Amino acid sequence: MHLTAEEVEKLVDLDELIAEMRDALIALSAGKVIQPVRSVLTTEEPPGWFAVMPAIHGDVMGAKLVTVFPRNAGTHLHTHQALIVLFSARTGEPVATLDGRVITAWRTAAVSALATQALAHPEARVLTILGSGVQARTHFTALSKVRQFSEVRVWSRTPENAARFAQEIGAKVMDLEEAIRGADVICSVTNAGEAFVRGEWLKERVHVNAVGAVGLAARELDDAVMQGAAIVVEQRKAAGRESAEIMCSGSAIYAELGEILAQTKTKPLQSKTVYKSLGVAVEDVSAARLIWRRAVSRYT
Ligand code: NDP
Repeated sequence: MHLTAEEVEKLVDLDELIAEMRDALIALSAGKVIQPVRSVLTTEEPPGWFAVMPAIHGDVMGAKLVTVFPRNAGTHLHTHQALIVLFSARTGEPVATLDGRVITAWRTAAVSALATQALAHPEARVLTILGSGVQARTHFTALSKVRQFSEVRVWSRTPENAARFAQEIGAKVMDLEEAIRGADVICSVTNAGEAFVRGEWLKERVHVNAVGAVGLAARELDDAVMQGAAIVVEQRKAAGRESAEIMCSGSAIYAELGEILAQTKTKPLQSKTVYKSLGVAVEDVSAARLIWRRAVSRYT
């Protein structure tokens, strides 16, 4: 079976996906998933990267093959493109290939929703989204499932893109500093290379989902954001190798998200929390299994 991006989009059920991501991250932190840190190959011109992300989880094993070509922005091609290949972990037979672009868009936001649900203050009312691309859109939808925001703010590097996105979701466009000051929950979902979110602008009690900076060449948050924050990650091993924000700031990791969801680690006491998202293979393989099963029950 092959499922295209359009088919995957129709089969995504966000509530089910959030529940699936919860199970996947709990299993990962409990040592029930086999998953190496991804292998990444880079291209120089045009600048891009190609990553291979394998995992074995329960009755499936598989891998996401993903490319990121930032210069595709503004063309008919997406900056992120991917395929996921699924095999049976019982017999080794291949069972499906799926578009991985749409799964990446939704699984990332589903995990940020879990982090927000677990870590943001229950009274959080002001959401700020930094960025206006694919992840900005899925994050708005997914976070709206776990908190009721009375105000949504948008900042993006290109003002026209910020305005278009804000109009789509009924948000306010603001300057960067203005958007960050007073926000209860912040999602940074950009391709920025340099840190642009400054700790001095943050409210004392704040939760940040830091999603955009993946790999050692990218940052969104400065050191002051990281200092004093309880840092939560998907997997310590990956964060210790792939997050410049954690490594350069010298921040300690408080917990894996799966540990907090399983309550094997208590929620942090700090009023500032940062979920540093990197994206791990078990999210893709588990999401692909969910979509594949829905396709099997719908189409066969
Ligand atoms: P898109 O290409 O759809 O959007 C990119 C966004 O980044 C745009 O809003 C763009 O702003 C902004 N941007 C680009 N360059 C800069 C810059 N130098 N400074 C500030 N903003 C910039 O990408 P996605 O939404 O798919 O992905 C967003 C980020 O999230 C990427 O860095 C990606 O690698 C990361 N990601 C992380 C995942 C994870 O699991 N942690 C999974 C998938 C993606 P504008 O259009 O206004 O110029």
